[in-house]
Amino acid sequence: MLRLTDIKLPLDHDEHAIEQAILGKLNISKSQLLSFDMFKRGYDARNNRNIMLIYTLDIEVTDQENLLAEFTNDPHVRLTPDMSYKFVAQAPAQLSHRPVVVGLGPCGLFAALILAQMGFKPIIIERGKEVRERTKDTFGFWRKQALNPESNVQFGEGGAGTFSDGKLYSQVKDRKHYGRKVLHEFVAAGAPAEIMYVSKPHIGTFKLVNMVEKMRKEIIALGGEFRFSTKVEKLDLNEDKEIQGLHLSGGNYLACRHVILAIGHSARDTFTALYEQGVYIEAKPFSVGFRIEHEQSMIDESRFGDNAGNPILGAADYKLVHHCKNGRTVYSFCMCPGGTVVAAASEPGRVVTNGMSQYSRHERNANSAIVVGITPEEDYPGNPLAGIELQRSLEELAFSAGGENYHAPAQLIGDFLAGKASAEIGGVKPSYTPGITLGDLSKVVPDYVTKAIREAIPAFERQVKGFAKADGLLTGVETRTSSPICIKRDANYQSVNIKGLYPAGEGAGYAGGIWSAGIDGIRVAEAVALDYMSTH
Ligand code: FAD
Repeated sequence: MLRLTDIKLPLDHDEHAIEQAILGKLNISKSQLLSFDMFKRGYDARNNRNIMLIYTLDIEVTDQENLLAEFTNDPHVRLTPDMSYKFVAQAPAQLSHRPVVVGLGPCGLFAALILAQMGFKPIIIERGKEVRERTKDTFGFWRKQALNPESNVQFGEGGAGTFSDGKLYSQVKDRKHYGRKVLHEFVAAGAPAEIMYVSKPHIGTFKLVNMVEKMRKEIIALGGEFRFSTKVEKLDLNEDKEIQGLHLSGGNYLACRHVILAIGHSARDTFTALYEQGVYIEAKPFSVGFRIEHEQSMIDESRFGDNAGNPILGAADYKLVHHCKNGRTVYSFCMCPGGTVVAAASEPGRVVTNGMSQYSRHERNANSAIVVGITPEEDYPGNPLAGIELQRSLEELAFSAGGENYHAPAQLIGDFLAGKASAEIGGVKPSYTPGITLGDLSKVVPDYVTKAIREAIPAFERQVKGFAKADGLLTGVETRTSSPICIKRDANYQSVNIKGLYPAGEGAGYAGGIWSAGIDGIRVAEAVALDYMSTH
């Protein structure tokens, strides 16, 4: 099979245009083209009066070798690479011990699935509840301000991305094509088939809930075992710093030799416990700022012009970066077209924002994080856990400014730029529940964050018309953009100083998003399987 890349066609092309484009590109007749499949479809909307669809196509032709030879100098005609997933091991029928996966976010889910598919019958420990119970708790918090610190947006089956936009892309390097395996498994669990070929796939929140449940059932059918509402509190280590077992909540103990630690970026209590036990942890950069909301129709118009509303394009997104005069970088992050801003706290007395949307992305507002990069060297030096303390202090300021009832502090963009507190909502209606309290957001973040975002918003206006409109809304505070720590691992994916511990996913600093967390889960599951096989 051959892969053709960079085939550009107008947005409104007819159904025969793809075939015509292949024949034209390769200069072959219709009878030579046996079949074709869409591998990827993206678009180029830089000129919104002439939006182009960009295809990557897999084709079968009658005389492949000759054709390939003819196009040796054309980088857009190549053999289709083999992207199928191949297991690295098959577990023996009798296992001397079973691997343990801690945390059931996308990283833990894929680690457990791959281990189960290889026959390793993993045991999965998750501090939160099964996804349906967890959904009740999360919506309970959004509606009634009743936060359950063990069952919320961050904790529970499915992990942090369960109530999200379900975006499935990132810039992670994926030479072994593990990302395809993640997408295949998601489709098998009920995700829309288009995630296999659109360039920026997303799933939306409710579909994710069903998918996670289905994947759990598959893991159980393969011999896996789940323990919900069970927290790992401490590692049991021998004198050589090798894992012997795990101390669990409720005074329980689980003997084990291989532990995949996929606990996400919000497991602050567990990070502290691990650090106190001597697990090697370093502070890492992350970002802080606000959620910004505009009307989606304005973003669509700015990005797509007269083509706004075209179903192939869907609700428009944006990706913005501004390098400030003070050396800071401000960027948009986790943009949720047609979505809502959500309360993402996991600790009492703290307010954190994030965003989510349904698959349809039909809500009135667009939202995204507008955040400023911060570093341990400059902003939270000293203790490797100092970033967590910074996050907590900002989340407490936000809680207090919101009125100490989990309402989030908010400000109109115009007022924020002018440096005055907001008193009245404008045209953009806030989507955050339980509610917002208007005021002055400069009081909940460090000055350098305020200054940098004040400089960036007018700069973003030059890329997305209307971005700096006075009645747009900022809601605070966005602190959980990525993990504030890195649990260092070696070339074999094990902790640099604890044998048998495999730090993984976003919390350990090795992923940023659902898709990359899933990919990291696969990598680490393979490392565990290979280590098991080499020692048995
Ligand atoms: P997590 O998903 O955080 O999972 C960690 C799990 O470990 C949790 O279930 C937790 O309960 C459990 N755990 C923690 N400590 C312990 C312990 N001691 N014992 C047992 N269990 C424990 N990313 C995207 O790519 N696209 C998006 O659209 C997107 N939207 C988001 C929207 C929201 C509201 C949020 C909060 C996040 C969003 N993200 C999105 C980020 C994404 O969810 C994370 O990057 C991803 O979930 C990280 O996966 P993970 O498996 O590493 O960790």
